[in-house]
Amino acid sequence: MITKGLEVVSQNYIAGEWRSIQGEGQAVFNPSNTLEKIGEMYLSTAEDVLEAVAAAHAGFMIWKKKSGSEKSSYLYKMADALEQESEEVATLASKEMGKPIGEMLGEVMRGVNLLRFYAAEGVRPTGEVIPSTDADVLQYTKRVPLGVVGIITPWNFPVAIPIWKIAPALICGNSVVWKPAEHGVLTATFLMKVFEKANLPKGVLNLVIGKGSVVGQTLLEEAEIHAISFTGSTATGKNVASACAKRNIKYQTEMGGKNAAIVLNDANLEKTVPIILSGAFRSAGQKCTATSRIIVEKGIYPKFIAAVQEAMSAITVQEALNNQAYLGPVASKAQFDTVSEYTQLARKEGEIIAEGPLKTNQKGYYIQPLVVGGVSAKHRLVQEEIFGPVATVLQVDDVEEAIELCNDSLYGLSASIFTNNINKAMQFIDNVEVGMVRVNQETSGVEYQAPFGGMKWSSSHTREQGQAALDFYSQVKTCAIKHQF
Ligand code: ADP
Repeated sequence: MITKGLEVVSQNYIAGEWRSIQGEGQAVFNPSNTLEKIGEMYLSTAEDVLEAVAAAHAGFMIWKKKSGSEKSSYLYKMADALEQESEEVATLASKEMGKPIGEMLGEVMRGVNLLRFYAAEGVRPTGEVIPSTDADVLQYTKRVPLGVVGIITPWNFPVAIPIWKIAPALICGNSVVWKPAEHGVLTATFLMKVFEKANLPKGVLNLVIGKGSVVGQTLLEEAEIHAISFTGSTATGKNVASACAKRNIKYQTEMGGKNAAIVLNDANLEKTVPIILSGAFRSAGQKCTATSRIIVEKGIYPKFIAAVQEAMSAITVQEALNNQAYLGPVASKAQFDTVSEYTQLARKEGEIIAEGPLKTNQKGYYIQPLVVGGVSAKHRLVQEEIFGPVATVLQVDDVEEAIELCNDSLYGLSASIFTNNINKAMQFIDNVEVGMVRVNQETSGVEYQAPFGGMKWSSSHTREQGQAALDFYSQVKTCAIKHQF
């Protein structure tokens, strides 16, 4: 249905049916090898969005009447279907956006776990009994759904992010209109094909492929929806927040990061360096939680730099489907151009401390991983989100200065410290202005059952994943029943 030869063609899924999208298709190429066409993208119009939203309203009327355990059984079926097709989904996603296959398989399994986690929520408490001052009144709360939820997702986690929004939205009783990023439309179409096997009632989960400026903007401004959950750039997130605030609909924005890892004098370098490089360079640095600032205490600085230089020479840059790939290409031409501007800036205004290999034997969007020093704390390389394999090192006198620099950012998503000194670790935990604080761990990699989100310009201060997501996708009714009346 959606494959044309071996290529995938993007389609909408509305009211339980596949709909071809009118207009001209655009070829989608593999960022690991831009000579390989992997499919075609067709883009929807505003009318398609409105049709999907109408279907979601009809779906909501059916879905909201299902019991928690009924909804739960659909989510378990979605999880099973995804687990069965995990390799196919991961392969297509790796080809579409360049994440190494090993990591992509991990991402798909995270999706399976998220679906099972939220499936189980269908039989967990949805409220509490609050003692009334009147002995004949039963007073309690219950979570109720919001209605039709618009879900706008980015390309960097084309499987896990959609699922960490869709699964809690569904288990809370909402219906969904999902708009994936342009660079993830083939994966989105295929994922929807997998989820179709769960036989959700018509209109409960709808997919609309298209541009942010058309599909996204229609969802924000015209469609009759009750909430938006968005992950993407800070610029678009601001737009989402103001459009939703004007309409007084609930919104959640997960945006950028400029995450720091602090290395103190007592850090175990043998363990610390591989973790920091993994945080900086896996997925070619295209994670909102990637390590992009490394703040090192001066006593360990020379040894740290020497260890980084040695470790960087062992990093491999390969096409995404190669099992040996430590990192693959960046996802697209647009990403390649933006990140290349920063690498040129680093070479011009900074000092290259260490560099990984440059892959030149294949036509793809490969960027040479860089560790850069020699710039001030206010430099663009230290302040702006690069979203590529570039990390900047800063040297500090002590933990106080390290925390101060760590907090000197518009963003507040995640941060790490490497030390065995419990007092300094606690000082960091207490004073760092981020949503996810890690000790002796990567800045990325927060587990699926724990809240995910940031402070400052990294988010709209709500949290995704874990039980925290249930707060976003539901609203509370306070009920009081007078008996013996
Ligand atoms: P990135 O720079 O990571 O691609 P974007 O914020 O541009 O981040 O994109 C994230 C998601 O937001 C994508 O699905 C994109 O299509 C969508 N988007 C982009 N512009 C808009 C907009 N004006 N309104 C709604 N959604 C948008």
